[in-house]
Amino acid sequence: MTSPPLIHQRWPEVAVTLPHLSLGEAPTPVRPLTGLGCRSEVWLKDESGYGNGGWGGNKVRKLEWLLPEILHGRPRTVLTVGGLGTNWGLAAALYARQHGLDVALALIDHPVDDHVRAQLRRLRDSGATLHFAHTKVRLLLTAPWLFARHTRGLALPRYLPPGGSSPLGTLGYVECALELAEQVAQGLLPEPGWVVTAVGSGGTAAGLALGLRLAGLRTRVLGIVVNDTLHLDSATLIHLAAKSQSLLRNRGARPPRVQLGEGDVVAERGWLGPGYAHPTARARVARDRAASEAGLDLELTYTAKALAALLDLDAAGRFADGPVLFLNTFGPR
Ligand SMILES: *Cc1c(COP(=O)(O)O)cnc(C)c1O
Repeated sequence: MTSPPLIHQRWPEVAVTLPHLSLGEAPTPVRPLTGLGCRSEVWLKDESGYGNGGWGGNKVRKLEWLLPEILHGRPRTVLTVGGLGTNWGLAAALYARQHGLDVALALIDHPVDDHVRAQLRRLRDSGATLHFAHTKVRLLLTAPWLFARHTRGLALPRYLPPGGSSPLGTLGYVECALELAEQVAQGLLPEPGWVVTAVGSGGTAAGLALGLRLAGLRTRVLGIVVNDTLHLDSATLIHLAAKSQSLLRNRGARPPRVQLGEGDVVAERGWLGPGYAHPTARARVARDRAASEAGLDLELTYTAKALAALLDLDAAGRFADGPVLFLNTFGPR
């Protein structure tokens, strides 16, 4: 028997209005991240093991809130979008199909390496219908056809945004922040000054920022932007967090009202390189160091760029005001 999510424990009034489907084992572990030669004290919260359905990482927590709403209605196809190596699309395909939904994925091109090729094989094996849209423009032009193609009777496909970063999906990382606050309260780690995470569609950083304030922690979020195909900055992350907060309130929760400012969730663009899924030399160095010195399996699109930023900013003395927590969001199986 898994215990109810912390959001339901904190605000029992949303237990029915915001249904939750447990898809992983919480809490995820925290540990010191040593061996990287940092000046600051660095900790890890490892989301890689989260997810019991053949793929893990940060998208699973979002699906825990997104899927019950879809399953509640009449069965329909889930339609969503991503890059050729999309972790989001794979998680959506595996978990939605396990719950009886059909899944269609529209994919946009980006540089292909062995990691992406392996991911494409997993996507083909997932049973999802794949549409190779190639570019964002072609995706927009074919959208009406995609909707028509996946309509069942009168049921239009249910569209989920890139990365699952709707206000509802973002609750997954509000939940993760509440979990982190419990781990701090239990003395498993010190209260971090910063949490560093990659920003691909924003739900992870926005949810963390909201959840950390709701939990009463002072920890700020440093989001390393790795995606230039979406507009992502501090203001858009604050806006998404505010929409998630409104959703909680509209469904009946009465948390303390929090107002996030630009200092609470900072978006850094300096580690993006040439663009989304374009590897950088800094990311390669960070990935190799993480593997050899800290036993961490990172990839070059998200997590290695985020760690590269952490290492550079640490060397520049950015984390003088307390321990820094790295969120490992990558969950290969
Ligand atoms: C999607 C993804 C992210 C980014 O999370 P968002 O909520 O989309 O910003 C980070 N790391 C990995 C491995 C991802 O797949």
